[in-house]
Amino acid sequence: RAFSSAPITATLFPGDGIGPEIAESVKQIFREAEVPIEWEEHYVGTEIDPRTQSFLTWESLESVRRNRVGLKGPMATPIGKGHRSLNLTLRKELNLYANVRPCYSLPGYKTRYDDVNLVTIRENTEGEYSGLEHQVVRGVVESLKIITRQASLRVAEYAFHYAKAHGRERVSAIHKANIMQKTDGLFLKCCREVAEKYPEITYEEVVIDNCCMMLVKNPALFDVLVMPNLYGDIISDLCAGLIGGLGLTPSCNIGEGGIALAEAVHGSAPDIAGKNLANPTALLLSGVSMLRHLELHDKADRIQKAVLETIAEGKYRTADLGGSSTTSDFTRAICDHL
Ligand code: ATP
Ligand code: MG
Repeated sequence: RAFSSAPITATLFPGDGIGPEIAESVKQIFREAEVPIEWEEHYVGTEIDPRTQSFLTWESLESVRRNRVGLKGPMATPIGKGHRSLNLTLRKELNLYANVRPCYSLPGYKTRYDDVNLVTIRENTEGEYSGLEHQVVRGVVESLKIITRQASLRVAEYAFHYAKAHGRERVSAIHKANIMQKTDGLFLKCCREVAEKYPEITYEEVVIDNCCMMLVKNPALFDVLVMPNLYGDIISDLCAGLIGGLGLTPSCNIGEGGIALAEAVHGSAPDIAGKNLANPTALLLSGVSMLRHLELHDKADRIQKAVLETIAEGKYRTADLGGSSTTSDFTRAICDHL
């Protein structure tokens, strides 16, 4: 794909709240960098589509299935009964089994750490999120944590493949198998099996409580981390915090058959929506993740460099980073750096 000149069609969900503003910024910057992508834009519907049981239409889902690649802004699930949440619909319908979050310190944007450079890979379909909870008798409830060999192998396989493709050296499986012997035990067993096929990548297992302590003491100890769903939810937010938080953190969801749906980690930020104040960095870096998935590394590098330089320079920064620039000023500054 990197060598063909035909444009690639990608689905774009601008989303709600600040979504349209930051999506506009991404489109502008991608145009400036001459990224060979044509966007197919889809908006969340105003009524429930009976075919999806959700405000996401069947056509939107088909668009991602057809293009196999997309970028998603924040979506606020409308309130009301009788429908599935938007994120759940996307996750289930597109079988988005892994959530990938690269976290690295942004040069020139000071946090407590200068040397974070890690990637969390979260299993996204089972574990404690299987939705199997019930009351046994009054005062006693039960929740089932499901771990399957199939889903564990699939996410482990993705983690090692990612490590190899991105020139990373180590994969750490995060677990609590000393207590969750059967479930986390099976997860680890699958990781070990996959590790054997990648002798060039160092494999280690770290108990989650120890992992938290190590991350906070010295995040540079980690490279690629792979883990079951709930641990991934918590650890990936912890890691986002290490580098400066919501406005900066990209992510990408990997689905069956190589679908990639990149998205910012933050929500729709209704408090600043429509005011030209939002920081587009997280969505932009998610777009960069998407370009890397498409092996458009030249374009990805160029855009990433321009964003980092603009932030490091410090002249144009949005309010969440302590600056006073608008979304459009910041966007223009990035275009100038291109
Ligand atoms: P939602 O219900 O969609 O998650 P929320 O009210 O939880 O919305 P978040 O989007 O999660 O809001 O944001 C939490 C805080 O972080 C808000 O104060 C918001 O303004 C800020 N924030 C989030 N994303 C950005 C961004 N891209 N740029 C600037 N500030 C942001
Ligand atoms: Mg939120």
